[in-house]
Amino acid sequence: MRPSTFLSAGVKINCHTNEPGGTPFREAVQKDNAPDDEGGRVPLGDPRPGRSNVSDMPGVVIVGGGPAGLTCATTLARAGVRVAVIDREGLGGRLVNADQVYDIPDVASGTSGAEAAGRLAEAVVEAGVRVEFAEVETIARAKSESMWTVAFGSESITAGTVVMASGSRPTPLSVPGADRLEGRGISYCPACDGPLFKGKDVVVLLGDEWGADETVQVARSVRSVRALIHPDADPRLERHLDRLADLPGVSVERDVVLRAVLGDSVVSGISVAVRGEAQTMATEGIFSSLRTTPNAELVADAVRLDKAGAIMVDEPFRTSAAGLFAIGEARGGNAGTAAEAIADGRALALQLTRGLPSAAGSVQVG
Ligand SMILES: Cc1cc2nc3c(=O)[nH]c(=O)nc-3n(C[C@H](O)[C@H](O)[C@H](O)COP(=O)(O)OP(=O)(O)OC[C@H]3O[C@@H](n4cnc5c(N)ncnc54)[C@H](O)[C@@H]3O)c2cc1C
Repeated sequence: MRPSTFLSAGVKINCHTNEPGGTPFREAVQKDNAPDDEGGRVPLGDPRPGRSNVSDMPGVVIVGGGPAGLTCATTLARAGVRVAVIDREGLGGRLVNADQVYDIPDVASGTSGAEAAGRLAEAVVEAGVRVEFAEVETIARAKSESMWTVAFGSESITAGTVVMASGSRPTPLSVPGADRLEGRGISYCPACDGPLFKGKDVVVLLGDEWGADETVQVARSVRSVRALIHPDADPRLERHLDRLADLPGVSVERDVVLRAVLGDSVVSGISVAVRGEAQTMATEGIFSSLRTTPNAELVADAVRLDKAGAIMVDEPFRTSAAGLFAIGEARGGNAGTAAEAIADGRALALQLTRGLPSAAGSVQVG
């Protein structure tokens, strides 16, 4: 299940919706990417410096318009590289779901995720990046073995360099009852679905660093929230918990492991272990912020993945397949922050514009 869209300040914000697009920046992007006078798309250029006008040479295709992909695209485009970003949901990635952001350079703490993501999206538009709203369905070697063909919708682009900036998605719960009651009281997008649980008593399962932010958003709509912290939760979660301290109707419980989801046709409770002791808790809704799964399946046959399913890269973000790079939450060993995704995007772009020696060579990873 993918979460739904939500409205913020009267604007439809993309929030990992089932429908492509839906971002406030989509109209601007479509205007700026209108076909040229000859009715065709502006072709991608050669990523090497000084070669951006070589219109018959492919450049860089970036899969994913989250913080990593947007930053990479803007930096490349400003250096004269012809670059395309393809995103199935709109621009901004998971960051648009943040109520308040922290630790992102040049962004004041407390800024909304939508605003922070919006700045990255505007920069992409201003830099003249070609943006496509579509699901990338395949990434395969082109006839010329040094190139990749990226297929989306009825189109495809063949380029020498492809960047996987495809991020991650919430990992579905795998306990008994979760499959059966999916969409019947279980949500993986607290930011999107909180209002659907208006006036109800719910639980939020906290595992990653951003669970407190998501709890704050849920608490605005519901009657009560029990924030249940997994014993293996990211230790960085602790520093955000003070945001929950004075929230009415919110309680925090530690060392809680979900064992089963209970209910006939809709969620009515959960079975948990609290500090090892079995308990049943009544609840009308479950929001999971436990962990995420990298969006790496597209290239699973082409590159090496780590145990978590993320794309293995070496220092300059090279995968085990020449010309294919991975940045942000799609790559192995990432910290799960926008700050790092942005840093990845910028670092890779700078390396590509300087002519990364390995861009066309096979590399050994891991
Ligand atoms: C509630 C919340 C609060 C947060 N707060 C902060 C914070 O304060 N500070 C901070 O540094 N970080 C924060 N984060 C984390 C931050 O949002 C992520 O680390 C960051 O968005 C990761 O960026 P990314 O570009 O790697 O991936 P993503 O943001 O996941 O973007 C990936 C994009 O790829 C697209 N995509 C995937 N597969 C395909 C495909 N096949 N075809 C086309 N498009 C595809 C997706 O649609 C998505 O838009 C928060 C996260 C959440 C959920």
